[in-house]
Amino acid sequence: MTEQARHISTDLVHHSYQAPQAFSAPQPAVHKASTVIFDNVQDMRTRRWLDKSGYTYGLHGTPTTYQLEERLCSLEGGKQCLLVPSGLSAISTVSLALLSAGDEVLMPDNAYGPNKDFAAHELSRWGIRHVLYDPMNVADLEGKITPATKLVWLEAPGSVSMEFPNLIAMVQTCRARGVTSVLDNTWGAGLAFKPFDLLADGGSLATDVSVHALTKYPSGGGDVLMGSIMTVSPSLHMRIKLTHMRLGIGVGANDAEMVLRSLSSIALRYHAHDVSARVLAAGLQRQPAVVQLLHPAFEGAPGHAHWKALCGSAHQGQGAAAGLFSVVIDAQFGQDAIDRFCDSLQYFKLGYSWGGPMSLVVPYQIESMRGCGGGALKAGTVVRFCVGLEDTQDLLRDLAQAWEKAFSQAWQA
Ligand SMILES: *Cc1c(COP(=O)(O)O)cnc(C)c1O
Repeated sequence: MTEQARHISTDLVHHSYQAPQAFSAPQPAVHKASTVIFDNVQDMRTRRWLDKSGYTYGLHGTPTTYQLEERLCSLEGGKQCLLVPSGLSAISTVSLALLSAGDEVLMPDNAYGPNKDFAAHELSRWGIRHVLYDPMNVADLEGKITPATKLVWLEAPGSVSMEFPNLIAMVQTCRARGVTSVLDNTWGAGLAFKPFDLLADGGSLATDVSVHALTKYPSGGGDVLMGSIMTVSPSLHMRIKLTHMRLGIGVGANDAEMVLRSLSSIALRYHAHDVSARVLAAGLQRQPAVVQLLHPAFEGAPGHAHWKALCGSAHQGQGAAAGLFSVVIDAQFGQDAIDRFCDSLQYFKLGYSWGGPMSLVVPYQIESMRGCGGGALKAGTVVRFCVGLEDTQDLLRDLAQAWEKAFSQAWQA
C-alpha cells in the first residue's frame, strides 16, 4: 500500500512521522498506555512483566510509573515498589496478599481508622481475625502474637492521637517471633526516619513492608490520590506483586506524573511544614485550656523519647516531624465551643487528608475510635491540625482570633 492509498483515518493512527528520540527536559515524560506494542510474536511470547526490563501491558507499568517507583525507593530506602490508587488501597492490598483464612493480623489501637474497618468488615469475611494491641506497650504486642499471627501493622506515630511507639522494639519483636511487619509510613514519608534502616547502621533492622499514602506529602497538592507498597525482599515483593496484578490494580500516568513533579520538592516542603507546625503547637500549648499537646517532638508528649531516638538527629538535632499535631482541649468546654472554634478559623479549612498547601483542622470524638490502649491521652476533646504552607504568623493570628471567639478566653501570646 502506498501512502496515498491510505484513508486519512488510517494515516492518523499509523502515521509515518517519528519524532527524534533525543529529547531531554527537567520533568519525566508522561507515557500513557493500556496496550503496549510488541515488535513481533516472538517478542510478545518472551517478554516478561515480572521484572522491569520491559513493558507488557499498561497495568504492569510504563516508563512514567517505573520512574516514580524508583524515586520512591530512594526516598524510603526500599528496593521494590508497587503503586496503587490510594493509601488505603496500599493497606488493603498488603493485607489481602499476605493473609489467608485462619490467620490473625495485629494492629495498633490508634491505627488509621479505615485500616481497622477493612479488617473488621472485609478480612473478617475471609476468616481472618484482627486483634488490637496497645501501641505504647511492646509487651502487649508480644503477648498477642500467636502461631496464627501472620502480620503486624505498625504506625509511627498513631493517626490523630500521635503517640509515638517504640518502633525499634516492636520491629525487633516481630523479627524474633518470625512475623511479617508492615509500617504505615505516611507520617515519616521517608524523611523523618528510614523504615528499612531503623538503627541507622546500614539496615540491620528493617520493617518488612512500608506503605505510604502518596496522597499526602509526595503529592503535596491535595489533588492526587495514590499509594505505594515498598519492600526490600524480592520474594515478599513478588508475593504482593502477584496479588496486585490479580486484583487488577494500577495508577494512571497523569497522576503518576503529578506525584513525580512534586516529589523533587518534598524534603523542602516537609521541613517547612515541620517548622511552622512546631511554632503553632507551642502557641496552643501556652493556652491554659489545652490540657495536652500531642506532637511527638515536644517534651512530655506521648512517646517523645521514642521519637527522639528514631527521628531526633535530623536538622542539627532539631529532629524531623510531619506538620501534623493534635491538642486535647479541657473537657469543661463542650462540643459546641469546640465546633465554634473550628468553624471560626479562616485559614484552617475543615477537611480530611493532609500534606497539601492548605492548613486543615478536624475535631475528633476519640473515645469512639479506641478499643484498648489510649491510656496516654488525657480527658478532653481532641482537635487535629495539619499545617500547610501559609505564613506561620498569619496562621497564629487565625488560631488566636478563633480561640477568643469560641472559648471567650484571651489568647496567651
Ligand atoms: C491518609 C492516610 C492513609 C490513606 O491514604 P488515602 O490515599 O487517603 O487512601 C493511610 N494511612 C495514613 C496514616 C494516612 O494518613
